[in-house]
Amino acid sequence: MHFDILTLFPEMFAGPLTASILGKAQKSGLVSVDVWNIRDHALDKHKIVDDTPYGGGAGMVLKVDVLVRAIEAVKGDSETPVIYLSPQGQVFNQDMAAQLAKLPRLILLSGHYEEIDERVRQHWVDFELSIGDYVLTGGELPAMVVVDAVTRLLPGVLGDESSFQQDSFQNGLLDHPHYTRPATFRGMNVPEVLLSGHHDNIARYRLKEALRRTIMRRPDLLEKKDLSMEERQLLDELAAEFSAEGRVNTNESD
Ligand code: SAM
Repeated sequence: MHFDILTLFPEMFAGPLTASILGKAQKSGLVSVDVWNIRDHALDKHKIVDDTPYGGGAGMVLKVDVLVRAIEAVKGDSETPVIYLSPQGQVFNQDMAAQLAKLPRLILLSGHYEEIDERVRQHWVDFELSIGDYVLTGGELPAMVVVDAVTRLLPGVLGDESSFQQDSFQNGLLDHPHYTRPATFRGMNVPEVLLSGHHDNIARYRLKEALRRTIMRRPDLLEKKDLSMEERQLLDELAAEFSAEGRVNTNESD
């Protein structure tokens, strides 16, 4: 898969894109990333990319002509979708990451300052993605978030394919708790079942703990999930445990 990132600050990408799994995925040719400087498409001698907003008001607006030249230079005649990172976009989630991971190529447009010219959004952007309901300085961090979340879903990127299958959101639940050696630390023991070597019991324990965590932290996820028979049984067990504990609400901190 190939990502083209359009930005005014290409230098921001060096660290995150070269380290760890993203760096390895690029070295092994599973993914490639080109970071393009929008400023290279400003034609005047001062390389101006922004201007004051028509109608007045605070902040600077990225210019339509510069952005369109940048997008067209990268997109060429291809059908590659252009995604604008924007707090006004659809909120990015694991399902969207999985959909994007099926595409051969994506163009990610990072905005900056007050906004980009609206005409770019209307005519050159295919869809907008937000990484959450807060406003960042620029679309660079959101672009990195999208590249990271999509890349780790590509076949061959994670050493063990099953590791993302159990991740939070992958099957509509949060991930179960994890432990590693030592089995006892300052009197705190790892749950016995994990040391038993009994794979069915371990799988059942993990599913139950994933359900417990999801009810406590993200009950909204369970409302959307098609539950299997086993999941229903485990939820019944959890309900019985909660009622024995006298727990009436689902907040773990209570
Ligand atoms: N005036 C804009 C608004 O209120 O919708 C916010 C502009 S923000 C200061 C500058 C740039 O940061 C945006 O053009 C966008 O590319 C990026 N950005 C900020 N927050 C974001 C978010 N939550 N998700 C994705 N991109 C974001």
